[in-house]
Amino acid sequence: MIPDGSQATRTWLIRGAQPLGGPALDLLVRDGVITEAGAGLQAADARLLDASGLIALPGLVDLHTHLREPGREDAETVQTGTAAAALGGFTAVHAMANTDPVADTAGVAEQIWRLGRRAGYCDVRPVGAVTAGLGGSRLAELGAMADSAARVRVYSDDGKCVSDAVLMRRALEYVKAFDGVIAQHAQEPRLTDGAQVNEGEASGRLGLSGWPAVAEEAIIARDCLLAAHVGSALHVCHVSTAGSVEIIRWAKSKGWRVTAEVTPHHLLLTDDLVSDYDPIYKVNPPLRTAVDVSALRDGLADGTIDCVATDHAPHPLEDKETEWQVAAFGMTGLETALRVVHEAMVETGRLDWAGVADRMSVRPAAIGRLDGIGAPLHGSALAAGSPANLVLYDPAARDVVDPAQHASRSRNSPFAGMELPGRVQATFLRGVPVVLDGKLAR
Ligand SMILES: [Zn+2]
Ligand SMILES: [Zn+2]
Repeated sequence: MIPDGSQATRTWLIRGAQPLGGPALDLLVRDGVITEAGAGLQAADARLLDASGLIALPGLVDLHTHLREPGREDAETVQTGTAAAALGGFTAVHAMANTDPVADTAGVAEQIWRLGRRAGYCDVRPVGAVTAGLGGSRLAELGAMADSAARVRVYSDDGKCVSDAVLMRRALEYVKAFDGVIAQHAQEPRLTDGAQVNEGEASGRLGLSGWPAVAEEAIIARDCLLAAHVGSALHVCHVSTAGSVEIIRWAKSKGWRVTAEVTPHHLLLTDDLVSDYDPIYKVNPPLRTAVDVSALRDGLADGTIDCVATDHAPHPLEDKETEWQVAAFGMTGLETALRVVHEAMVETGRLDWAGVADRMSVRPAAIGRLDGIGAPLHGSALAAGSPANLVLYDPAARDVVDPAQHASRSRNSPFAGMELPGRVQATFLRGVPVVLDGKLAR
């Protein structure tokens, strides 16, 4: 007999969930695996979870998270960041390398991986730096990080662009040996020196230095050509302009190994919001125009943009609640990502829930090489034999975002005060509920 309220059981019967928004059925989870999926399942030893009205999706995978540990534990820790991820429905996150020290060696990458294992809310895959110390002058220990216990496959100097074409070419060549991918923060540094806001009407109105679309598009075009030239894999971080979508569409039409992500905030918010100098809207790349937002939505819908990645970038209050020019770039996003995608993509008819599962779980898992020996760990179908990494989501819920309720240590959500649809009801990591009833289960 299972004591009331115990989460210790290894057997769960999830009753009446709608996988990918389809017909309701039951999911039986035993020892971390979905062992049966069908109607009217029975299991005397199982704990029952009534999931009627809830959509079941494979656990979400984020390719782009800043967990800030080591070095900026005042902004976030692996513990608080992964708790936020679980509450957002994520079962795996890729932790960006711009920590202090930088994740540019096997030692630092393994430290972050171990912190993730200890926290236990979701899997943490460290992203390795491309260049030593993010310095942009010589390659980091790419091979040693790949061979480490952390099994790094994604490399990025995110926050900085690998602007040196020779270094970028070498990095792309180097990671081919272990099927790695270079994730580029595409920002031509000379064209964005001192840039504060999207170049155009917004920069003119505010009298702030503009950030031209071409600074992003020129690097993406160059890197697509380099990836094709050496036959390697490029991933483009946080695509933000209509022109970038066109370039990536062209590269894909050539059959080149190019993938791309878009953030939830670039799918919903425009540069009109920066009209009163509120630094909550200060982000890199900047919020763009409504034309760009529409192109990003179309690109995600048609698969030109492979996935949604949060670029969750927590900052303490003192770094954000200051004047625009000196405020930090970045927004939190883990706890609102699925709801924002619901609003921007599902409510507008651009994606159905199967599409959401593809763009927020299946494809990012594939890009992050989140596969075990022979069997995928994340991004699997919700079918018998799959690992029980899943999220139960209430599409009928609706409320106003309040960052004070978030598990993230930081509060810099641009969605604060905005009414959004949906609610993550439960998240299972390998059969263990880490979130139940919308709250951390332990
Ligand atoms: Zn970036
Ligand atoms: Zn980032």
